[in-house]
Amino acid sequence: MARRRQIYEGKAKVLFEGPEPGTVVCYFKDDATAFNAKKKGTIEGKGVLNNRISEYLMIKLAEIGVPTHFVRRLNMREQLLKEVEIIPVEVVVRNVVAGSLAQRLGMAEGTALPRSIIEYFYKNDELNDPMITEEHITAFNWAHPHEMDEIVQLTLRVNDFLCGLFLGIGIRLIDFKLEFGRLYENDQVRVVLADEISPDNCRLWDIETNEKLDKDRFRRDLGNVPEAYVEVARRLKVIRDNEIEALKNRPRLVE
Ligand code: UDP
Repeated sequence: MARRRQIYEGKAKVLFEGPEPGTVVCYFKDDATAFNAKKKGTIEGKGVLNNRISEYLMIKLAEIGVPTHFVRRLNMREQLLKEVEIIPVEVVVRNVVAGSLAQRLGMAEGTALPRSIIEYFYKNDELNDPMITEEHITAFNWAHPHEMDEIVQLTLRVNDFLCGLFLGIGIRLIDFKLEFGRLYENDQVRVVLADEISPDNCRLWDIETNEKLDKDRFRRDLGNVPEAYVEVARRLKVIRDNEIEALKNRPRLVE
């Protein structure tokens, strides 16, 4: 079989041309980067786990009416997506102080915020994803004001829903990053949720112990990195115990 044409290779994912026009195949790698790729590594089995976790969350969000680019999971490491034009803005939602917010404002990590806060960052590796405001986004036409309204509405719904979903499995959703894209369909264009939702782009703390169950274990060299991803997948029930064993025995499992 001819190899599919690669469209793009990112830090954690590879995109290939899909089987039909308007679709792409996303392959989840085990590669992990942090601090704008200054720190590089591999998290065994991460691709398989993020593929499952993101599939589950995208399906749940679609069920409550959040439009997404997700079509279906194809295999252990790949999912079929609708092709979208990515809006070059990272939308970060924060419920609890952590990471760059703690550093920027000198606040203690773990402080609950009086309300959820949305921040925007310009997707540009060369510039280190600088923080921006809605003013920059609309002035430079990265997104239209009506698209921003849609993005804010969707983001708040996603946050409310995910906070509840994670609370149900004993996890506090500290913060996370979303990306949105424009979907062109039948002469119409609409904003949909894109990218992935996984422990790579969420901070997830155990409700009882505050143990970190996300990429901060890799960023901060906390150890038990793959175990954190497995734990999230296990609590979400997107992986069975025998599959966890198989992952341990064949960590570089691909298909
Ligand atoms: N995040 C992300 N990609 C980025 C930057 C941040 O997925 O390029 C996520 C990160 O995992 C966290 C949230 O966005 O859940 C807020 O990250 P923060 O601004 O604190 O930056 P960091 O500490 O990752 O530098």
